[in-house]
Amino acid sequence: LEPAYQFMLRIAIPGGVATPKQWLAVDDLAQKYGDGTIKLTTRQAFQLHGILKWNLKDTIKTINDELMTTIAACGDVNRNVMCNPNPYQSEVHQEIQDWAQKISDHLSPKTGAYHEIWLDQEKIIDSKQEAEPIYGKTYLPRKFKIGIAAPPSNDVDVFSQDLGLIAIIDDNEVKGFNVVVGGGMGSTHGNTETYPQVGKIAGYCDKKDVIEVAEKVVTIQRDYGNRENRKNARFKYTIDRYGLDWFKQELADRLSWELEEAKNYHFDHNGDRYGWIKGKNRWHLTLFVENGRVKDTDDYQLMTALREIAQIHTGDFRLTPNQNLVLANVTAPKKKKIQEIIDMYAITDGKHYSGLRRNSIACVALPTCGLAMAESERYLPSLIDKIEGLMSAEGIQEQEIVIRMSGCPNGCSRPALAEIAFIGKAPGKYNFYLGGSFIGDRLNQLYRENIGETEILSLLKDIFHDYANDRLEKEYFGDFVVRKGYVDEVYDGRQFHRE
Ligand code: SF4
Repeated sequence: LEPAYQFMLRIAIPGGVATPKQWLAVDDLAQKYGDGTIKLTTRQAFQLHGILKWNLKDTIKTINDELMTTIAACGDVNRNVMCNPNPYQSEVHQEIQDWAQKISDHLSPKTGAYHEIWLDQEKIIDSKQEAEPIYGKTYLPRKFKIGIAAPPSNDVDVFSQDLGLIAIIDDNEVKGFNVVVGGGMGSTHGNTETYPQVGKIAGYCDKKDVIEVAEKVVTIQRDYGNRENRKNARFKYTIDRYGLDWFKQELADRLSWELEEAKNYHFDHNGDRYGWIKGKNRWHLTLFVENGRVKDTDDYQLMTALREIAQIHTGDFRLTPNQNLVLANVTAPKKKKIQEIIDMYAITDGKHYSGLRRNSIACVALPTCGLAMAESERYLPSLIDKIEGLMSAEGIQEQEIVIRMSGCPNGCSRPALAEIAFIGKAPGKYNFYLGGSFIGDRLNQLYRENIGETEILSLLKDIFHDYANDRLEKEYFGDFVVRKGYVDEVYDGRQFHRE
């Protein structure tokens, strides 16, 4: 008898846009084959947990029948292309969404093996002769991540991407993109050869050239990425090993033209903005989904409410890079009905939560992720309860602070960019980091190693007291702890580890 092996299944949806019908299909799969919950990920994808091995094929087939896919949601290829889901800039957003889709399609593996294995398609190509025009025979040395930001929002954390694109918007039109290369969050505890890194701006390209640029960047990593040591195989290490000038020259050689000088841009924040917003003709509602977990509990029936909304909604569901959800393109009559469902189930748009909770992200970690060293998603909410108490005692409970937790240093919640971060070390023990920026362009640094909750709260109590008394006007917490010397200012991952 075969053991009941269970799997996590990730559904890639470029830019995180799903129709109500697709939402209902994912919900149905979660009930039928999964653990009855849906996880919205930090890369705007769906995750289904607890799929038993013998249900995998039916699940994947249904996903494909609904015009979604799991191909390239894992593996050493380009992953889900992220983009800003901010519908209140709808024309610009739509165009950025289109670019995300086009880049995703262009970089999608062309192999027919996926369809043969999972969708019972006929074997029409001899796999030995099958050509992968971009990935070649060996694919990439490691996964590759792309995200497109629409200033002033940096919700995709563009500096955490292998390839980040900052849309340059003029007169409500996307003109082109600043090209950011070599960001990445993962590292290994105790190995200073590994580090998180913020991407570097290499230049600017016109929008008509962006797919070609993305392809050439991927091929540079394919040809120069480290294939001997997986821990140093991500693009950030390639860029750091060869240097940005080398990269620019290599890219220019492959394109036969050079990137222009980067254009000016400005970011305000990397979180989500909650509640109803009126766009050009339609309404959009951003809901707070704590740590991206859609489920029903005895006192909060989020999954049921969203199912009922999906049954009447004629717009779309947009998964945000911060694991929240936008009900977008809502007509005025539907707005009333959706609000009635929201009210009936007391679903929160997050506005009444503290500035800390509104800006929180936790990865899955235990019990589902096999790499987890400590709790994350199941623990962060209760830790935030206690940290909120400390903030209230100092009268700073309204302050927005980006806080993130990961169960291991892979950093799926992008913790290295948070103003306050915890990375799991062992059950109940975390490395404690401080000093990321509110807009996501600076790394934090280790403040205390391998500590538990009592010590975390004791340290934060003192730092919050200092912040409440000595902060400059409008000074963000991350900037404050750097200015006061709690940690160093880190704009290059090679300075991430303390001397
Ligand atoms: Fe798992 Fe680590 Fe990613 Fe968390 S950060 S989901 S523990 S791999």
